[in-house]
Amino acid sequence: MEHQDFQQLLVPHSLDALEMSEARELEAHLETCAECRAELISLRDGAALLAHAAEPAEPRPEVRARILASVRAERSDDRSGDVLTGQVVPLRSRANWNVWTMGLRLAAGLAFVALLIGLVVLWRREVKLRQEIAQLDRQLNNQQHELARDRDVLARQREALALLNSPDAKRLELAGSQTAQNARGSFVYDQKTGKAVLLADGLPATPADKAYELWFIPKGRSPVPGRIFTVDSSGHALLPEQLPADAMANFVIAITLEPKRGSAVPTGAIYLSTPSS
Ligand SMILES: [Zn+2]
Repeated sequence: MEHQDFQQLLVPHSLDALEMSEARELEAHLETCAECRAELISLRDGAALLAHAAEPAEPRPEVRARILASVRAERSDDRSGDVLTGQVVPLRSRANWNVWTMGLRLAAGLAFVALLIGLVVLWRREVKLRQEIAQLDRQLNNQQHELARDRDVLARQREALALLNSPDAKRLELAGSQTAQNARGSFVYDQKTGKAVLLADGLPATPADKAYELWFIPKGRSPVPGRIFTVDSSGHALLPEQLPADAMANFVIAITLEPKRGSAVPTGAIYLSTPSS
């Protein structure tokens, strides 16, 4: 066999459809022929893409036999033509060969496009999933924040309740000033532990740039600042406190409206206070 004969075996060989003896002959030729080697590599690439695009399938034995028979018939035609017409035959087999190659390349191209479309669909699905996960994550975060806030409020209320029920607790009643006549409140504290809680109602809503500030005023001394706080629309406040060390015994309480970050000494009007008597 010559180079042109072997060329015709490349397509069936790329599909593993050659007889053992022919395959062996072709392999021997491939060792010496770079052109045939290159063609076989490109044919195998095409076949590999096709295999990815379609379900793997062995040709039925009859089909395989028919393909091989037609390839062999083609080759014997070529040989008889060879003798008669020399140059014409290789051209014809070349055309035949081109149909095979073009068919495989077209199929490979189609398989590649299908693969790309599949990738784009997968990619878009993944983007959508990621967006959904991010949204769920944000919702979960919000709920956890709300839960933490609820727990915080609950803990304060429990602490206040424990203090209110404690037999050691003392209670100071607070009355609204001229500025806040509807306001009232209680200051409950435990002199031993210094734990305290302020309960207030009816205070005017806190302006955006202001805050209420609690003051301890030990008898005969200047006011000691306590915590700052705001009230909700119903004017309610529940504020855990800790008595300052120098105001554990004899003191009065006042609440003033101050700048948002609080003051070191009272600057605003008094809203709530223990009767000064
Ligand atoms: Zn060759």
